[in-house]
Amino acid sequence: MDIHEYQAKEILARFGVPVPRGGLAYSPEQAGYHARELGGDAWVVKAQVHSGGRGEAGGVKLCRSEEEVREFAATLFGHKLVTKQTDANGKDIFRVWVEAASDIEQELYLGLVLDRKSERIMIVASGHGGMEIEDLAHEDPDSLRRMVVDPAVGLAEYQSRELAFSLGLRGGEIAQMVNTVRACYRAYRDLDAMMVEINPLVITKSGDLVALDAKMSFDTNALFRRPQILELRDRSQEDPRESNAEDHGLAYVGLDGDIGCIINGAGLAMATMDMIKLAGGEPANFLDIGGGASPERVAQAFRTVLTDANVQVILVNIFAGINRCDWVAEGVVQAYKSEGLTLPVVVRLAGTNVAEGRKILEQSGLPLITADTLAEAAEKAVEARARQAA
Ligand code: GDP
Ligand code: MN
Repeated sequence: MDIHEYQAKEILARFGVPVPRGGLAYSPEQAGYHARELGGDAWVVKAQVHSGGRGEAGGVKLCRSEEEVREFAATLFGHKLVTKQTDANGKDIFRVWVEAASDIEQELYLGLVLDRKSERIMIVASGHGGMEIEDLAHEDPDSLRRMVVDPAVGLAEYQSRELAFSLGLRGGEIAQMVNTVRACYRAYRDLDAMMVEINPLVITKSGDLVALDAKMSFDTNALFRRPQILELRDRSQEDPRESNAEDHGLAYVGLDGDIGCIINGAGLAMATMDMIKLAGGEPANFLDIGGGASPERVAQAFRTVLTDANVQVILVNIFAGINRCDWVAEGVVQAYKSEGLTLPVVVRLAGTNVAEGRKILEQSGLPLITADTLAEAAEKAVEARARQAA
């Protein structure tokens, strides 16, 4: 689960990371009011959306007067911000963060991620911050420093000091860096984070280390024990298809194609997507309905797939092990009727009670397209898609 920049800054500040003073606005007037209250003569106005690359996309601006703050904020509210990291629709701007501007001497990069290979938290840093980590890894890979933390020992002070030295920091900058890295590590560990990223982490002209941007992402499997983090969830920033599926306990990932997939098992779901591609089609989603698929669950899966307006054909592929094909077939028939389906539906069933399952599909009198193998199902779905387009 992702949170907003201002929320991440608030959390990190609690752990001891220095951040600029600022205020959250829900209207241009509030933005102007924050600028006045903060004082000074320069403010940074920032669209709060769950995405990086806001600066390049016109979602961040350095403003020199209260009026400029209000005017720029007015161009953000009610609009969508399209960045390199969002899809073509972008994300709605409902919140704007206004903070006292900093005079930047140097931009650094600091990130903490879960390294799946070593199964440990990895700290990544660079003396060359500001751009996205992907671009940094491409354009200046030698500047990247990586350090893995042993969970039994925790982050040792010498490690953060070594990191600060390797970035070329000097004097008082070193102690500030050590402090910031340790604060980020504690926040990551204590809150079940999956990612903490400060980019840029800057050294100001007066020699202070400050986090000008902050990003945090949390392990959804640990949210049951992090109610305060869960409260930071902003559904307006999520793909509605995915949050809807999650509410119903379905593992769903939205994609760009038009063949909706209802499948049990992550492996089978991936194999089915491969077969659709091989047959010349494009899947609209990844959806794993899990092991014990009751008719209700299958019907819910249909509703979830149908929330995607791009879907032209639905492919149901169930291999029943602990599941039962007759239950799945019941679910398909129920969903077809209750949802008033008009789209072609291709069904492939295999495993426990497959004969009973097929009989239910046949006797339903519905125009379902059946298939015996995975390859046949994918081909029939792509054919049906072509007929729809014609
Ligand atoms: P992102 O583009 O979504 O990663 O948003 P950032 O918060 O990183 O802001 C984009 C860029 O705006 C940063 O990389 C900085 O170069 C610039 N920026 C942000 N805050 C300040 C500030 O206080 N002063 C100055 N001069 N530039 C800033
Ligand atoms: Mn940034």
